[in-house]
Amino acid sequence: MSHPPEEIVEILKKAGRVLIVTHVFPDGDALGSQLALGFALEAAGKEVYLYSEEGVPHILDFLPGTERLNTRLPDHATFDCAVALDCGDKRRLGDGAEQLLSHKPFIAIDHHAGHQTFADVTWVDQYRSSTGEMIYDLLRLLDFEISPATAYCLYTAILTDTGSFKYESTTAHTLRVAADLLDYGVKPAEICGHIFDNYSKNRLQLLQEVLGSLSLHAGDKIAFISVTPELLQRTGTTPADTELFINFPRSMKTVKVAVFLKKTADDLVGVSMRAKGEVDVAQVARDFGGGGHRNAAGFKITHASLAQIKEQLLAKLLPLV
Ligand code: AMP
Ligand code: MN
Ligand code: MN
Repeated sequence: MSHPPEEIVEILKKAGRVLIVTHVFPDGDALGSQLALGFALEAAGKEVYLYSEEGVPHILDFLPGTERLNTRLPDHATFDCAVALDCGDKRRLGDGAEQLLSHKPFIAIDHHAGHQTFADVTWVDQYRSSTGEMIYDLLRLLDFEISPATAYCLYTAILTDTGSFKYESTTAHTLRVAADLLDYGVKPAEICGHIFDNYSKNRLQLLQEVLGSLSLHAGDKIAFISVTPELLQRTGTTPADTELFINFPRSMKTVKVAVFLKKTADDLVGVSMRAKGEVDVAQVARDFGGGGHRNAAGFKITHASLAQIKEQLLAKLLPLV
C-alpha cells in the first residue's frame, strides 16, 4: 500500500483555488471522494469548484453538499491546480476532458489497476479499496479538518466501492479508516439505509422485470441480465435505478461472472461485469474499449443488439470460468 506523494501534499497545501472532478456517471466512491475533498479544502480556507458533467444521480442525492456540484464546465477561471478522483482513463472525464486537463498542474488520485496516465502528477494505488480510502490518508497527512460531512462522504465512498466491506479489496487498513470515520461522527446504519433501503415502488418493479431477463450459461457459471429503454419507461424509472442490480445474479453460488447489459438509448448499451476470485473481467472490458478492476469492470458499445453483445461476450468469458 502506497502513501500520498509529497508532491500532491505540497501542491494542495499551497493552492488557493482548486478544481475537483471525477468520472462520468459518478458512483458513490467518485462523488463521495469529490465532495469530501471539497469540504476539507474549503475548511482549510481554499476555494473549490466541483464539476460533474451530468450532475448527481438521484440515488446519491442524500450526500451532503451535492447542491455544490456544477454541471457547467469552469470557464477560463484560474485554478492553482485540478484534481481528478477515481478516474482511470481520461475519456472517463467526459466530453470536457481536454478543457479540464488544460488546468495545471493536473493531479490524478485513483485505484484502478489499468490506470492510463493522463495527469501531470499521479497517485494510483491498485491495492486500495477505494479512492475514498486514499483521500482519508491524504487529509490526515495534510492535517486538514475532517468534519462530520467529510467523514459521511468518505464512508459512503468506501462502503459502496467495497460492496459493504465484502470485496477482496477490503484490507485491515480499509477497516481502520472506516473505524476512524465512525469516530468522526459517521452513523453506519444511517448511510446503509440511504444506499440499500432506498427503493421506490417503481424501482422494485424494475428489479422484478430485470430479474425476469436472467439467463444462465456455462453450467450456471455465467449470468446475464438486461434492461431496455422500454422497460425503464414502463416502470417510470431511470438508468440510475439499476445501480447494484448486478449483485443479484452475482450472488448465485455457482456464478463466476455476472453481466448486466444496460441499453439506455436506441443505439447505446452500457455493460457492467462482476466476477469472483481470479476471474479477470477488466481484461475483457479493455478488449471492448472499457476498463475497470479485476472483479468489477465495464464498457460501452454502440451499433450492436443485446443478442450480439451477449454472443461476443460469451466467446470471451467461456474460457475464463
Ligand atoms: P460499473 O459496472 O459501471 O459499476 O463499473 C465497474 C467498474 O468498471 C468501474 O469502477 C469502472 O472502473 C469500470 N468501468 C465501467 N464502465 C467503464 C467504461 N466505459 N470505461 C472504462 N471503465 C469502466
Ligand atoms: Mn468509480
Ligand atoms: Mn473507485
